[in-house]
Amino acid sequence: MQKAVEVHKAYKYRLYRNNKMDGSIHHQINVAGMIWNHALALQKRYYKLTGKYISLHTMQKHIAKLRMCRFNYAYWQALGSQAAQEILERLDKAYQRFFKKQGGLPRFKKVKKYKSFVLKQAGWDLLDAQEGKKYRKIRIDKKMYKFVYHRPLNGVIKTVTIKRDSAGRLWLCFSVIEKMEIPEHTSTGKIGGFDFGLTNFLTTDEGKTIESPQYYKCDLPRLRAIQRRVSRKVKHSNNHKAGIWHINRRHIRIADKRLNFHFQLANALCDQYDVMVFEDLNLDAMKHLWGRKISDLGFAQFVKVLDWVAFKRGKRIIQISRWERTTGKCSHCGHTQKLELSDRVFECEGCGNTLGRDHNAAINILEAGHRLMLSQSIEVLANREAVGVNGRSPYH
Ligand SMILES: [Zn+2]
Repeated sequence: MQKAVEVHKAYKYRLYRNNKMDGSIHHQINVAGMIWNHALALQKRYYKLTGKYISLHTMQKHIAKLRMCRFNYAYWQALGSQAAQEILERLDKAYQRFFKKQGGLPRFKKVKKYKSFVLKQAGWDLLDAQEGKKYRKIRIDKKMYKFVYHRPLNGVIKTVTIKRDSAGRLWLCFSVIEKMEIPEHTSTGKIGGFDFGLTNFLTTDEGKTIESPQYYKCDLPRLRAIQRRVSRKVKHSNNHKAGIWHINRRHIRIADKRLNFHFQLANALCDQYDVMVFEDLNLDAMKHLWGRKISDLGFAQFVKVLDWVAFKRGKRIIQISRWERTTGKCSHCGHTQKLELSDRVFECEGCGNTLGRDHNAAINILEAGHRLMLSQSIEVLANREAVGVNGRSPYH
C-alpha cells in the first residue's frame, strides 16, 4: 500500500561559470548583501528616531525607488527586482521572529560573506537536459551557466537560490514541490527504544551502541598544518585568500561526512525498525540537560534527518514526554534511585540488576513508548508532528 503526498524538497547542484573571470554572480550576491545591510541600517535609524518599525510594504517601495535612481544606486540594478524584494522579505521575517522572541536581532553581514539570493518566477530559464551530457544549462540574468546534473530534478520548481559557500564555490538550489509515494504498511514489525548520549551517540534497548565518528578530530592534524601554512602568507594576498578557501573547503568536507553518516544511520535504523521511540527530541530541553556539548555532536541535524527519512519510508518516530523518568529507574523492577551524571553503570538497589546507564535508559524509553502507543495513538501522532516540519526534506 502506498499513499501519495506532496512534499517540499530541495535539489542542490554545483554551478559553474563559462568564464572564470565572469564575476556577475558574485557581484549579484554582493549587491544582495548590500541591500540587506542598507535596509537593516534604515530600520535601525528609523527605530532610534521614532521607535517604530518600517513595514515590509513601505520598505519594498523605498528600495524599489532607490534601484531606479540613476547615480548612487545604479549598480543595484545588477540584481533582479524580485530578488531584491525577497531579501527584504527575509529581513522582515527575521524581525518578526525577533518580535516574537524566537530569535535575535538581525545583524549586519559582511558583503563578501553574504551567501545567496533567491529568484522566484522571473530572472531564470532552465534548459532541457540533453541526453548523454553530464551537465545541464541554466540562464540567469541573460547569461548562460552550466551545472553538474548528477541527479534528475523532479517536481514543480518554486524558487531558485544561487548560493556561494565559504570556499567561494557557487551552488544552485531548486526548491520544489514534489509528489512522493510513501509506503503505508511497514514490514519489520519491530519497535525499538533509543537513548542519546555523550559518550555513545546512540544506545539501543538491546544494549547495542553506535558511536559518532569523530570526523573533525581525525582531520585536525591536517587542518592545523594547512592553517600554519596559511598564516605565513601575506594578508589580503591571493595566496592568502586561496589558503582560506582551502581551510573552508576542508571544514565543509567534514560537515558533509557527518551529514552522510547521519543519513546512513537513519536509513539503517529504518531498515531494522518500524517504530522508533526517543526521549524528548526537543533540542532546547536536551541543551538544558547536557549543556552546550550537544551542538558538537550534531544531534539537531540527526533529528532532522531521521525525521525526514522516517517520514519518507513510512516509519514512525515516537517521543515520550520529557517528564518521563528514564535514567534513575530500574528497567527490571521499577525501583528508582538517585543517579549522578558521572555514574556510567546503573546498579539497582532493589533487585541487584546491573546494566549500562544508557542501556537501562533505552529500555525505559522503549517501555514508555509501548505505554504511549497503547494508551492513545492520537497523542503519539500529535507528538510526531512536533518533531519537525512534516514532509519537508532538511537537505537535498
Ligand atoms: Zn531493580
